[in-house]
Amino acid sequence: MTRIIDGKAIAAQIKDEVRQKVEALGREGKEIALAVIQVGSDPASSVYVNNKKKACAYVGIRSLAYELPEETTEEELLALIDKLNKMEECNGILVQLPLPSHINADQVIDAISPDKDVDGFHQSSVGALCIGRPGFLPCTPAGILELLVRSGVEIAGKECVVVGRSNIVGKPVALLLLRENATVTIAHSRTKNLKELCRRADILVVAVGKPKMITKEYIREGAIVIDVGIHRKEEGGLCGDVDFEDVKEKCGAITPVPGGVGPMTIAMLMKNCMLAVCGGRRDDGR
Ligand code: NDP
Repeated sequence: MTRIIDGKAIAAQIKDEVRQKVEALGREGKEIALAVIQVGSDPASSVYVNNKKKACAYVGIRSLAYELPEETTEEELLALIDKLNKMEECNGILVQLPLPSHINADQVIDAISPDKDVDGFHQSSVGALCIGRPGFLPCTPAGILELLVRSGVEIAGKECVVVGRSNIVGKPVALLLLRENATVTIAHSRTKNLKELCRRADILVVAVGKPKMITKEYIREGAIVIDVGIHRKEEGGLCGDVDFEDVKEKCGAITPVPGGVGPMTIAMLMKNCMLAVCGGRRDDGR
């Protein structure tokens, strides 16, 4: 029978572990604060920002909210980041993306101190991941790895196909799987014979941003399927990049949408904030 990988339960477990560590740090007199910066009032961004604030409140991390108007200039935003970089009581800085088009997001992300880069998007965090040095891991890819590990999925020696090569999901998740000794192939919009390629996968990670694109023709019998996509359906509710109903009898295990990868992203953000204080800027070093 197909196993449903319960991201909600695993994320709750991680948040509880972080909460306990935050409490222990508190007893040593160490407090954790995360600065959350939102520019403009994009409704989807507001939902994400609120969820992050709620998670902070749950685990005992103080959130410093900066809600800036749409017309904020790049210079103003960079000045705020500079101030937060220097502020001792601020341990992590998160800039909610996307930013308005008049602001260069790369410049802004690279202005964050790598020691406070809890989103793991700074070029030095990305470089560290690439060459196997300690650094913050980006939250969604780290969450995917955690889902696999905590579900008892063996990764070493497995054939993994990652569909999508974005900087925030596809590329880093491929690097993490490689670090776990999988044999990894990255597919993208120019990949030929995508179905055949995906059917080779023991573990298939899908981050294409196309609702229900992956059907059972792409799946090897018994494969582990990780669906990163999130889409709002016209009739209400959410769906992923994988056609869940179509593939569920064929795969060995699958993450649902909602309740799979989604909740893991925030849980890993909380973990990064905790690591920023007690471990320096490093992941678990698996
Ligand atoms: P991007 O749009 O940045 O990247 C999509 C990738 O898919 C690109 O590399 C693109 O290829 C590739 N692609 C597009 N069409 C095809 C195709 N027909 N065949 C093969 N490859 C294709 O998306 P993201 O990585 O940012 O996000 C992917 C999905 O994950 C989205 O649904 C997003 O909402 C979701 N997401 C969920 C998160 C969570 O917390 N659960 C967090 C982040 C994202 P090319 O490079 O050639 O253009």
